[in-house]
Amino acid sequence: MSELLNVDSALERILSHITRLPAETVALTEALGRVLAADMRAEIALPPFANSSMDGYAVRAADTLGAADDTPQQLHPIMDIPAGAPVPDQSLAEGQAARIMTGAPLPAGADAVIPMEQTDQGWAAGENPPLPEAITVRQAVAAGAYVRPVGEDVQVGQVVLNAGTLIRPQELGMLASLGHSAVSVVRRPRVALLSTGDELVDVNEALTPGKIRDSNSYTLFGLIMLYGGTPIRIPIVRDTLDDARRRFEEALSHQPDVVISSAGVSVGTFDVVRTVLTELGQVNFWRVNVRPGKPLAFGQLRGVPFFGLPGNPVSAMVTFDVFVRPTLLKLTGRPDALPTIEAALAEDLRSDGRRSYLRVTLDSADGRYIATTTGTQSSGALSSMLRADGLLIIPEGVTQAQAGDRFKVRLLRGFA
Ligand code: AMP
Ligand code: MG
Repeated sequence: MSELLNVDSALERILSHITRLPAETVALTEALGRVLAADMRAEIALPPFANSSMDGYAVRAADTLGAADDTPQQLHPIMDIPAGAPVPDQSLAEGQAARIMTGAPLPAGADAVIPMEQTDQGWAAGENPPLPEAITVRQAVAAGAYVRPVGEDVQVGQVVLNAGTLIRPQELGMLASLGHSAVSVVRRPRVALLSTGDELVDVNEALTPGKIRDSNSYTLFGLIMLYGGTPIRIPIVRDTLDDARRRFEEALSHQPDVVISSAGVSVGTFDVVRTVLTELGQVNFWRVNVRPGKPLAFGQLRGVPFFGLPGNPVSAMVTFDVFVRPTLLKLTGRPDALPTIEAALAEDLRSDGRRSYLRVTLDSADGRYIATTTGTQSSGALSSMLRADGLLIIPEGVTQAQAGDRFKVRLLRGFA
């Protein structure tokens, strides 16, 4: 009935049932961390018009040819061009200039800007002196100086952002520049979350003898959020058939994209959860060659992908990382939030030949990472996850490791 699977083939089987979610349109302010569902082509150029990158005077560069300390040139400002003004009707004739502000459009005829500090007619911040009769230029300027040409940043018709791009703050800014107040992104997976067990009470309930607080539905809540899902917490499932049926039906009534439960899938526990899962769909009860977290259930409940994670708090987190995280990344098209690095062990270790995820702290020395285990590796000790900078992965088949041996580490926080 239950087969022993290695981690990679279990994950492969899971991901073969997962496809990217469809798109939805969201306001730009809701789009951070989402994945673009369509290519974004620019309908306008950025900047849309040639403009000044300095406060100064727009000029014809040719008029400044030969300007030097001993051969100063005089130019005559004929207008003011503030930021936000349209391109002036008047163009610059020979010997003329325009006083221009940063971001203001260049007038026809002008091809360069002289920053006001390089003229004898500068002004202080907040000052608004009358337009001078003449400015003296003591230095030639090159055509294009201090001018941001049309399309310098983005050209009309250019694909600026590809479908599949993760939207970061800079993508938000670009989308705003291009005039998109709403954007088509991959829908967030809705993830129904159940904790099972008669020993569990919710965080604000009294801790009577024999009870413990349900921590899994909060750690898993956080992990689902971290990987771009919307968690839906269902009340704790009691170890009775009726309650299990009621709560799993409740979970499915939220039309989730994924259902996750923790506990109740290991051999020897009350069978109510298993019974209900079997009633609702096809669920495989696997023994996966991973430590912590051997018992794992995966299948479909009325067609919705279902994960039955182990109950122990660290096992639930590790199996989430190994199996649910890649599922959420595939559903959303998001890149991984946290990288995997390589680190050298600080100590000798024994392992039991299963793929093992050890909680480690990391130090960096000479640009290399050194990993030290956090002490107790009990799968019930959530405090080991608080101390850990990462999960060091001992591959299948390895039973001994020496200090200095290098292993992969999945980071649990940004680490530099
Ligand atoms: P089980 O998988 O039901 O055998 O549970 C394994 C261990 O995890 C037991 O010690 C449970 O009390 C504990 N456990 C199960 N569910 C939770 C939960 N939601 N929060 C914290 N501990 C749990
Ligand atoms: Mg239990």
